[in-house]
Amino acid sequence: LEPESEDESGYEYDSDQAIEFDETETIPEQDVEDDSKLPVMLHRKQLMDLVKHNQIVIVAGETGSGKTTKIPQFLYEDGYAEHGKIACTQPRRIAAMSVATRVAQEMNVRLGGKVGYTIRFDDNTSKETRIQYMTDGMLMREFLTDSEMSKFSAVMIDEAHERTLQTDVLLALIRDICTVRPELKVIISSATINSDRFSSYFGHAPVYVVPGRRFPVDILYVKQPEANYLQAAIMTVFQIHLTQDLGDILVFLPGQEDIENMAESLQETKLRLGNSIKDLLICPIYANLPSEQQARIFEPTPNGARKVVLATNIAETSLTIDGIVYVVDPGLVKEKEYNPRTMMESLVTKECSQASANQRAGRAGRVCPGKCFRLYTRQAYEDLLQPESRPEVLRVNLAAIVLLLMSFGVSNVFEFQLLDMPTPEALVKAMQTLYQLGAVNGAGKLTKLGRQMAEFPADPMLAKVLIASGTLGCSDEIITIIAMVGELGNLFYRPRGKKEEADFAHNSLSQPEGDHFTLLQVWFQWSASNFSYQWCRDHFVQHRTMKRVRDVRKQLFRLCERAGIISDAQANDPNAIQKALLAGYFAYTARLSKSGDFYITQGTKQSVWIHPSSSLHSRKPLPKYVLFHELALTSREFMRGVLVVEPEWIRQVAPHYFKQVEERKRPVLR
Ligand code: ADP
Ligand code: MG
Repeated sequence: LEPESEDESGYEYDSDQAIEFDETETIPEQDVEDDSKLPVMLHRKQLMDLVKHNQIVIVAGETGSGKTTKIPQFLYEDGYAEHGKIACTQPRRIAAMSVATRVAQEMNVRLGGKVGYTIRFDDNTSKETRIQYMTDGMLMREFLTDSEMSKFSAVMIDEAHERTLQTDVLLALIRDICTVRPELKVIISSATINSDRFSSYFGHAPVYVVPGRRFPVDILYVKQPEANYLQAAIMTVFQIHLTQDLGDILVFLPGQEDIENMAESLQETKLRLGNSIKDLLICPIYANLPSEQQARIFEPTPNGARKVVLATNIAETSLTIDGIVYVVDPGLVKEKEYNPRTMMESLVTKECSQASANQRAGRAGRVCPGKCFRLYTRQAYEDLLQPESRPEVLRVNLAAIVLLLMSFGVSNVFEFQLLDMPTPEALVKAMQTLYQLGAVNGAGKLTKLGRQMAEFPADPMLAKVLIASGTLGCSDEIITIIAMVGELGNLFYRPRGKKEEADFAHNSLSQPEGDHFTLLQVWFQWSASNFSYQWCRDHFVQHRTMKRVRDVRKQLFRLCERAGIISDAQANDPNAIQKALLAGYFAYTARLSKSGDFYITQGTKQSVWIHPSSSLHSRKPLPKYVLFHELALTSREFMRGVLVVEPEWIRQVAPHYFKQVEERKRPVLR
């Protein structure tokens, strides 16, 4: 498999190199009931009777049956919002936004009024709000201020089958709350996978199965493995467009970069083929896309044209797009994974599970019989794809969750009963990280600093950086850097044919201290230009990313103010910014190797390289010590977001970590 390209792709459709597919099997048709109505509408009465007589109900149903959009409305209509709000959680921001928008339309109310949504850095609710869509992470945070969730009278944990870390923790917390709040109504809803496990976890709560409707879907596999999934996906889209009956296409890609690349290549090929082909509407969708453009995927396709939607696995179960007849599936997914070798978390592109592949295929059979083109062989499906995805709690860094649980008053995280328990080692590791950060003391108890960190809806490392910036007198700069550093991959662009011009512009922004300072420079210049679009164009910087940065920055400011972090202190220390970053990222540091061309990470002693897009990439000689924001594994383990630092500073800003490295001593754990 080719990793995501770091550069413009230049993929094209070449009709002489058609991809050959083997048709092997058909997913059979499923109960096609009265298809003028959504399935949940036909089951409203039985479902709501069950809710009336039971505190907890598990709803399992085919994607697109109306669970997410309709069930909260049923609850509302049946009066469950009279003494509290109805919450409906989503694992993804974009789903929370999109569904809330849709439901507000259906109920004919203003978004942010009776129906609203809350996602990190964006609260679109008001006093009026009765139905609140939100990310699972945001509902979990409610426990910090209100451990019985008294604002809510009904809670629907949606997409529970995705088993995100936040969902799992929410389920555990809600299970406890149910015992003290017998009037609280809880609905756990999931795609058809695994509903029995939820039921037994919740004391054998009743499971209501909403029969879905689905037409048969033919599954086609490539005959030969494809080396490059993006190229193969582009070829397949045009093969479908040129040879198959009308009907929209849905392509599943691992991430935003791929989606943007593919959208661009499709656009170019379309222009090249001109009027010789039927019209093809290219609709990318990802969280950072402006909402007007997100809405385009739901608009009906004009007669005679075909729509091709490029999405991540958001379209697997969270969003349903009507009119899809063809699915193109490279069989990949991008997942957060904790790498025990590097002891860090990174996003990796890997094979999706068989369950995911089947969900994806199912998307093709909503309106009529469909086809799913799998860009991997049947053999690969059987040998390489796991039957099911592993729950997130078993593969990510648990520091943030452990910190939250401790601040919720969970005294022994080792005894906190989750649907799947992480290994004791993973919990110990999380406690160690918290100890190093100073959030937990040697006795395993939450410190004042730890409590402060937990209040931030951010990773503990970032929270620590923000808190340190207050003391060091550089909050302003640090807030800007934090708002920007997560966007490193979406900030600079190099259009085909203008690469040199773009490189020149980017170099003019580049700062000798490294990427974090370059980001600051970008911000300074853009704000000095009065946030102009032209400045972004001239410097080959994505304007839409900068607009998002501006919003996030504003939100972070508000959060820091509320937490009393921003002080009037002046940064007397010329290295205040680096030190504040080190206060959280001390473990993400690396020392130059003897040979002088790569680095060795602190702690895990791993070889890593500076990412080619970094301001420091071609510095000669390379700096001795650096801090990095993340590791990205492509052809090599690359450090992304790299900053020059001095090792002595670590002793100053992270004494616990330093002590631990020195003494190789573990904190006492209870
Ligand atoms: P489920 O949660 O069971 O998967 P949903 O409630 O999400 O089902 O979807 C029900 C129907 O509502 C689908 O036919 C879907 O196409 C439609 N729908 C959902 N969101 C939107 C939207 N933002 N715009 C247009 N239609 C939508
Ligand atoms: Mg749904």
